[in-house]
Amino acid sequence: MSLDTLSAMRRALEAGETTAVALTEQALAAAEANGDLNAFLHLDPTQARAAAEAADARREAGEGTALTGIPLAVKDIFCSKGDPTTAASKMLANWRAPYDATAVARLRDAGAVLLGKLNLDEFAMGASGENSAFGPTLNPWDRTRVPGGSSSGSAAAVAAGIVPATLGTDTGGSIRQPAAFCGLTGLKPTYGRVSRWGMIAFASSLDQGGALAWSAEDVAEVFSVIGGHDPRDATSAPGTVAPASTLLSTPVAGLTLGVPEAFFEAVDDALQGPLAEAKAQFEALGVRLKAIELPFAGDAVPAYYVLAPAEASTNLSRYDGVRFGHRCENPVDLDDLYRRSRGEGFGPEVKRRILTGTYALSVGYYDAYYRQAQRVRRRILESFTEAFQAVDALFLPTTPTTAFKLGEKRNDPIALYEEDRFTIPANLAGLPALSLPVGFSNGLPVGGQLLAPHFEEGRILSLAHAFQQVTDHHQQRPTAGGAA
Ligand code: GLN
Repeated sequence: MSLDTLSAMRRALEAGETTAVALTEQALAAAEANGDLNAFLHLDPTQARAAAEAADARREAGEGTALTGIPLAVKDIFCSKGDPTTAASKMLANWRAPYDATAVARLRDAGAVLLGKLNLDEFAMGASGENSAFGPTLNPWDRTRVPGGSSSGSAAAVAAGIVPATLGTDTGGSIRQPAAFCGLTGLKPTYGRVSRWGMIAFASSLDQGGALAWSAEDVAEVFSVIGGHDPRDATSAPGTVAPASTLLSTPVAGLTLGVPEAFFEAVDDALQGPLAEAKAQFEALGVRLKAIELPFAGDAVPAYYVLAPAEASTNLSRYDGVRFGHRCENPVDLDDLYRRSRGEGFGPEVKRRILTGTYALSVGYYDAYYRQAQRVRRRILESFTEAFQAVDALFLPTTPTTAFKLGEKRNDPIALYEEDRFTIPANLAGLPALSLPVGFSNGLPVGGQLLAPHFEEGRILSLAHAFQQVTDHHQQRPTAGGAA
């Protein structure tokens, strides 16, 4: 079997059994062989090979870190110096970032080999990967299905065995839902844990960068490198993130896991078996399960779809063809320039968000929508705070279904919005949340979700890690060609 996890690659590098150059060639070949997935928007073999050689030299000099020489890739919403950075939008089709996002810079400093930029839903708006201006990404488990979104390429590239870990972003579920659909472990850290500097903004009070990989162990390794305070992001949380070994070391026996039964009842029958087995597995690990209520189930999605578009409408006003973004040909006057540049540059879902967001913020509607949604947001945070007085962490489904067919929900935005009903609450409350593989249904991966109080990433990483010591769902791989 080829090396396809970060920990296995690291061990092989440390033992001198492979080199960064060899791992990079393997990754580039896998990217090529899986070109039909459309996981990459930009692949940079030259840059990757140079970084690999530097990494080998660094290890040789005895100065390697856990990530030195590991091939990785990032969602194309992170700026990377000199590279195309498009957010999968025509608006930024020709833009090259003049600097590295903090998360990218930290990966480079650790000696990681960055292969390129991964596909996503345009400006991270979507839950299927189909909103990319550069074509949808396919799910390696079944190429007729979506990989989830918006971090579609980030999930597909790992599941296809191209790179062992990737960066994604999660505003309402965009790391966890694709992780669930692709059989991966994905962590959305506490809001403010991973710097937003150089991460193209969607909804600034919700956006959070994080990692996807096969296991909690590998996710922890990447998180410990990219996380921690950054003075360049005004909303960055103070403090550093512990090393991966510490993040994974919380004893789980004796922890209490809150289980909101109403969330499980809302899930497709096909997912019930694996989710029930996961609960039993946690109990077998000595974790106590406790039924709890989270009395906001139906309110999170509507509140999110007021707040996130409102913030997006403001953030995306900079793409006007003058300061940033695509500029139309031969404008007759300034108004025409704005109108046509934005009309041509943005795709339909982005336009829908800008329209709803602008509406929600307009005079006369602000109180009815935006302020009301903020109240709901505060109530959701309060319910979580209350729940965490009785339990150490929460266990929820990640998604209501397994990966659906390409095109299945394309014409039904509300159905797609509902995809995120189990993931959005953590974003509204700013809590750390992780999705991990808990089994399969009809050959498709099923995800379960763990949530913890603010800054307790270590608690859910430890729970997931303990679970992965006694289960093998995270060791399953799609068959080549993805005919599940
Ligand atoms: N699917 C949600 C949306 O479309 C969440 C996206 C995200 O987390 N970036 O807004």
